[in-house]
Amino acid sequence: MENLVIVGSGPAGLTAAIYSARADLAPLVFEGPSLGGQLTISHEVENYPGFEQPLPGMELMGRFRKQAQRFGTRFRSAVVERVAKGAHMFRVQLADEVVETKALIIATGAEARRLPIPSEKKYYGKGVSGCATCDGFFYRNNKVIVIGGGNSAMQDAVFLTRFAAKVTIVHRREYLRADAIEVAKARKNPKIEWMIPWVVDEVVGNDLVTGARLRNPETGERLGVECDGIFVAIGHDPKTEAFKDIVETDQKGFIIVRPGSTTTSTPGVFACGDVCDREYKQAVVAAGQGCMAAMEAERYLGVRE
Ligand code: NAP
Repeated sequence: MENLVIVGSGPAGLTAAIYSARADLAPLVFEGPSLGGQLTISHEVENYPGFEQPLPGMELMGRFRKQAQRFGTRFRSAVVERVAKGAHMFRVQLADEVVETKALIIATGAEARRLPIPSEKKYYGKGVSGCATCDGFFYRNNKVIVIGGGNSAMQDAVFLTRFAAKVTIVHRREYLRADAIEVAKARKNPKIEWMIPWVVDEVVGNDLVTGARLRNPETGERLGVECDGIFVAIGHDPKTEAFKDIVETDQKGFIIVRPGSTTTSTPGVFACGDVCDREYKQAVVAAGQGCMAAMEAERYLGVRE
């Protein structure tokens, strides 16, 4: 029987691990399929406090992990399929094993949203990508499109200009969600062009992407554009599938936690980070919530007043 299982290895999960390991709980972290979480695909993190100079997300998460390990955190690379409630404990179902634990912290974060069009699925991995950091390198001197108006889209577009000859940001409305500083960096980049407000109706290609059909939602005008790559940066949805039976979620799938706390609808189960954050979705917020989750789990387990 484990004291504490933490599901997820992003800033929330690993901060929960650092705190609970220092409280001698010897937490077990299931790292899941996206080791280190979403931050690892950020090529440059410049707003995480304490790091004056930008550093790659991968490096930052590597440091979180080493710090958690130093205090006795155990890591397993396994995907949690389901969690069931028992008497004062939880059964964590893996592919071929069940792990029992007295308390559980859910820090599974969110996964990249996909465009709801069949041609996006058809060309995913054949020119359509959800990760500029991973795939940008393949588009040297090419033309690419970035879809979205948030911070990810702005950062992806600027990053892609390192390789691509031209980057076109396609966004569905005039208003950009991204922070002013990120918009300004994209605006002043001569390789970036803007198509606002336009939407991608269809991805076109042969074996690989060769272009997209766009539509202006205000005028109804239609247009075909040529491109070699399409980067989808339209946000993320919380990853809660495995926990449906034990915690309540809201209409958008975020785990509901008591305000100012990480407690969920089930005593002994705590949630932190993007899996329950409708608002901020920042690494530093996730880390803060991870700390809260660990301290609340310690209290639940009777090792803290
Ligand atoms: P986001 O802020 O939710 O932006 C998603 C964008 O995609 C929005 O512009 C949205 O348009 C658009 N969109 C959503 N669904 C769409 C669809 N079906 N078709 C076309 N467009 C669609 O997501 P994000 O950029 O991934 O950022 C997520 C969070 O991480 C945010 O809180 C962001 O601040 C944070 N982040 C921070 C940094 C940083 O360095 N500070 C870097 C990256 C991300 P509408 O605006 O019209 O809804």
